[in-house]
Amino acid sequence: MDLQLDLLPMNAWLPHKTPAIIAGPCSAESEEQLLQTCLQLKELKVDALRAGIWKPRTRPNNFEGHGKVALPWVAAVKKEVKLPFTIEVATPEHVELALKYGVDILWIGARTTVNPFNVQALADALKGVDVPVMVKNPVNPDLALWLGAIERIYNAGVTKLAAIHRGFSSLQESKYRNAPTWQIPIELKRLFPNMPLICDPSHITGKRDMIAMVSQKALDLNYDGLMIETHIDPDNAWSDAKQQVTPSMLGNILANLKLRVASSDNAEFMNQLDELRKQIDGVDRELIEILASRMALVEKIGEYKKENNITIFQIDRWNEVFRTRPNWADKMGLSQDLIAEIYKLIHVESIRTQTEVMSKQDQKA
Ligand code: PEP
Ligand code: MN
Repeated sequence: MDLQLDLLPMNAWLPHKTPAIIAGPCSAESEEQLLQTCLQLKELKVDALRAGIWKPRTRPNNFEGHGKVALPWVAAVKKEVKLPFTIEVATPEHVELALKYGVDILWIGARTTVNPFNVQALADALKGVDVPVMVKNPVNPDLALWLGAIERIYNAGVTKLAAIHRGFSSLQESKYRNAPTWQIPIELKRLFPNMPLICDPSHITGKRDMIAMVSQKALDLNYDGLMIETHIDPDNAWSDAKQQVTPSMLGNILANLKLRVASSDNAEFMNQLDELRKQIDGVDRELIEILASRMALVEKIGEYKKENNITIFQIDRWNEVFRTRPNWADKMGLSQDLIAEIYKLIHVESIRTQTEVMSKQDQKA
């Protein structure tokens, strides 16, 4: 990936403390519900307000948002509360209406990011329009789709951009509503280091009790902001009731977050960190040397297998490796899952190496 995005810093379009806090109800249910929630959020000094106007629901007959009827409520709340407001847009018509009613920031929802046709239609609608856009990750754990949506919007000329991590659906049983799969947003940040990254712990957890934990994890990973669904009466919310918090709960969550910084000017701390990193560099070198000697053995075995006409893939041997290594790891206090994942990769590489050995010898023969 060699595309470098020339983005404006988030402070240029959303002045904020760190982390930026965006809060508000899942859905705008009534002008009163929206106004009362937002007035309380103003007291908490959040940086921006959110609400769903058009709600993409997985199945019909759930509340799908009031649609454009709710846009004058947003305009009225903005006037009264004087904070930037963000809503979800899924079609060019939504973009046009949102801008007409003075919405400050648009976001693209997870069910839209999955579809390049829809994203391109939004990108076309955004050409020549100076409005910030936040792109939620797609529903499925596919980094390329997320990057693709960001690129389409960027190519339309939008440089006020952020990514929102709202978790990914998964078949596996999980305590999360949408598995965070942190490595995907981390990879996004590695590819686009200047892309502001916002965590949406509400849709990741689906449960209000877990929001503080996921928010803290996001801050520990140096995220730039949090988007947290907040409602004056969450239990009676028309959508996502279990994951919404009251403004006062939000106040508690925010008060208990530990802020960490990416670097320190404490020389003693930096020296020690440097020393530990040097030790890690040494260990990593040994780790790679050990992997290289393991691969050399694998190659040798490939040659023996070839000479003796034995298949590369030996299920019994693989089962034994896969059973024993996590056990060894467990005894050393390492995660069994980690070692199982590493051995899956090692096995794939072993098969690749041996296939190469065999085909080389075939060519000679
Ligand atoms: C939302 O933020 O209310 C929403 C619908 O989110 P997502 O697109 O992440 O499901
Ligand atoms: Mn929601």
